[in-house]
Amino acid sequence: MTVITRFAPSPTGLLHIGGARTALYNFLFSRHHGGKFLLRIEDTDRARSTEEAVRVILEGLEWLGITPDEPPLFQSTRFARHVEVAHQLLAAGKAYRCYCTPEELAEMRERALREGRAPRYDGRWRNRDPSEAPPGVAPAIRLKAPQEGETVVEDLVQGTVRVANAELDDMILLRSDGTPTYLHAVVVDDHDMGITHVIRGDDHLTNTFRQIQIYRAMGWEVPRFAHIPLIHGADGKKLSKRHGAVSVLEFREQGYLPEALCNYLLRLGWGHGDLEVISREEAIRLFDIKDVGRAPARMDYAKLTHLNAVWLRRADDERLLAEIEARLALRFGPLTETHRARIRALLPELKERAKTLNDLAEAASFLITRPEFEPKAAALLDASRRALLARLAARLAETPFEDRATLHETLRQFAEAEGLKLGEVAQPLRAALTGRTTSPPIDATLAALGREETLARLKALPPLEEAVETLRDRG
Ligand code: GLU
Repeated sequence: MTVITRFAPSPTGLLHIGGARTALYNFLFSRHHGGKFLLRIEDTDRARSTEEAVRVILEGLEWLGITPDEPPLFQSTRFARHVEVAHQLLAAGKAYRCYCTPEELAEMRERALREGRAPRYDGRWRNRDPSEAPPGVAPAIRLKAPQEGETVVEDLVQGTVRVANAELDDMILLRSDGTPTYLHAVVVDDHDMGITHVIRGDDHLTNTFRQIQIYRAMGWEVPRFAHIPLIHGADGKKLSKRHGAVSVLEFREQGYLPEALCNYLLRLGWGHGDLEVISREEAIRLFDIKDVGRAPARMDYAKLTHLNAVWLRRADDERLLAEIEARLALRFGPLTETHRARIRALLPELKERAKTLNDLAEAASFLITRPEFEPKAAALLDASRRALLARLAARLAETPFEDRATLHETLRQFAEAEGLKLGEVAQPLRAALTGRTTSPPIDATLAALGREETLARLKALPPLEEAVETLRDRG
């Protein structure tokens, strides 16, 4: 049997991390078994579905590298087929027309609530002859669900879950306006797409019993189900807007790498020993739905950020350069080849220190133009240190900048000659060049900036008064 899975989002909101994880598990499971992964956009709720949401889903999945093996199927295009199946059930006596008016249904619901029962349809049209149909009432089509015995789901994550059929009423397949219900459409589509494994959030578990009844009524093979626990916020509550970045694309904006987010989402609820950093290839090799835990997973931003730093260090430099460039261009306009060369030169050092792409871009920004002095950096540039830097500039003017070791040696000798420690030279130099008190090692920083820019920045140090002003302004 070829394993075929699907991700079936409703385009009514964001692609949030819960959905992304569901998609990832479906993708990994199918890849692990050499099968297929499909995407179905469940856009039957026309009022709530938007094109923008569809775009965000497709863009989010593409960014995460969770791409389907076939073009997405839009559920709304399958309307005629949903209707057809309902009519087949009707013809086979597995479904019936129900002529209840909205008032009757409301009355049924109220009575049940009054009597402390769960509101259910009482099956009043189940065995009635259609000739009794009241004039002018359009019927709904309901499934003639079994009333005895039980429906059992052998769930790959939740284990055996059962419900007495007496608890389930005759569900509507087609509403009186002729539109299919969501539960019915999902079954017809999953069947026609040949889905063998339905992996989805455990909020759908209760739907499964009814959906199995439709499969049985049609004589279709029932797929295997795996209901995975939801993701909760760090506070243990259901994930919501309140928890900040929940849309996948927001993580992209915040400078997370897709492989880091996938690694994190994979580990959130699934584990393989104490393996933490897992590549896509390894994930495909190791992933098994049986290892998904049953407890709700908790979002842990610190862990995600840690993984992001790990993947950042492993990432290809040219790719990181492009990401940095895209971010810096927003602030400084298009970069030049010189800017690029500077960033490239310092990247090995920068990426050791950054946690996100945004951090990385921020840390590289001084390579484009010296930022405003941070107060602590300004404080380092008093008159005597400026004089020191002027003497140093003269030395640097004669030093080749190509080689870090030579630069380091020049600074060391200069410090020795001045009777200072290396750091006492490096700190004001760093402040003067970067406007900060922290940066990658000073020799690497100098090499990346190059001699011309270094000397220009040293020469252009703002007057002392200005530095002191900056300090005073900021308290
Ligand atoms: N469209 C449903 C949702 O977005 C998923 C349905 C399913 O996976 O069966 O929650």
